[in-house]
Amino acid sequence: MEFLRPATWEEALAAKADVPGAVPLQGGTDVMVEINFDVRRPAALLDLGAITSLSDWEVAADGRVRVGAAVPYARIITELGDRLPGLAQASRTVGSPQIRNRGSVGGNLGAASPAGDSHPPLLAGDAVIEAESAAGGVRMIPADTFYTGVKRNALRPDELIRAFWMSPATGPQYFSKVGTRNAMVIAVCSFAVALHPRERRAGTGLGSAAPTPRRARAAEDFLAAELDWDGAAPLTGPLLARFGELAAEAASPIDDVRGTAAYRRHAVAVMARRTLGWAWNDYRERVASCA
Ligand SMILES: Cc1cc2nc3c(=O)[nH]c(=O)nc-3n(C[C@H](O)[C@H](O)[C@H](O)COP(=O)(O)OP(=O)(O)OC[C@H]3O[C@@H](n4cnc5c(N)ncnc54)[C@H](O)[C@@H]3O)c2cc1C
Repeated sequence: MEFLRPATWEEALAAKADVPGAVPLQGGTDVMVEINFDVRRPAALLDLGAITSLSDWEVAADGRVRVGAAVPYARIITELGDRLPGLAQASRTVGSPQIRNRGSVGGNLGAASPAGDSHPPLLAGDAVIEAESAAGGVRMIPADTFYTGVKRNALRPDELIRAFWMSPATGPQYFSKVGTRNAMVIAVCSFAVALHPRERRAGTGLGSAAPTPRRARAAEDFLAAELDWDGAAPLTGPLLARFGELAAEAASPIDDVRGTAAYRRHAVAVMARRTLGWAWNDYRERVASCA
């Protein structure tokens, strides 16, 4: 197996152009497991570990946060929890401290597992993925169009993920995950909601409930029409129930070792109701404190 270790981003792009089959290696928490278990034996590994700029994050001129592909979950929790609370919550549920120290959102995006925990908050928060190739330059891919199939994404063979972009939260964000136990667990299913009060709308993301992570668009449209943004009136039971139903209708889950399709649909509805309830309560407190 060839082992490529570029020192710069430009060298990495050149190497990916030369050897499109080279498998990028960031934290290695997916790649090394697959190699150790003989799930794949790539002809070449492209180790991105020497490119320190991938581990930086910054607030860009337009106010959005640009987070390098290699920033590990542990730093998203400690350094970005105030700006990206939904993603930080999801990051807290990933693996163990060791996995959170090495694993990255860039790697989660590269793997594009329907069960990856970063995907629902990225979808709910309108994240955009910055991909780049030597020949094509930079391509900004909305999270919404990034996931193309089971463990497949919109990257071209010569492209690498450089960063992802998200606006800092302007409203409450929540993530919920059902697993077969409390920690070190792949999601049976998961759900994220992000309130965007300035735009009078809410974003959603479903995980492990369809071939790809996806938004519950009809549920989002329902909230945009029904939520009382100005009065911040309490949510009614029927509103919560309908939101849960619409979220569950967006799922197209399968039966597998972790859970049945019917259980997943049910759990998505429950998580949707709960996360919206938590987010709306926070929103009401903020509105009340400003009155
Ligand atoms: C014990 C254990 C527990 C885990 N628990 C969870 C969990 O709870 N939730 C969860 O979501 N995941 C979990 N994972 C999976 C894994 O930790 C995550 O998917 C993590 O985000 C991968 O990040 P990484 O940096 O280690 O990626 P890597 O393993 O280095 O790469 C993952 C994939 O992304 C590609 N890739 C990496 N960087 C780039 C780039 N810059 N451009 C293009 N492609 C790239 C790689 O080629 C590979 O296909 C767990 C793994 C283990 C071993």
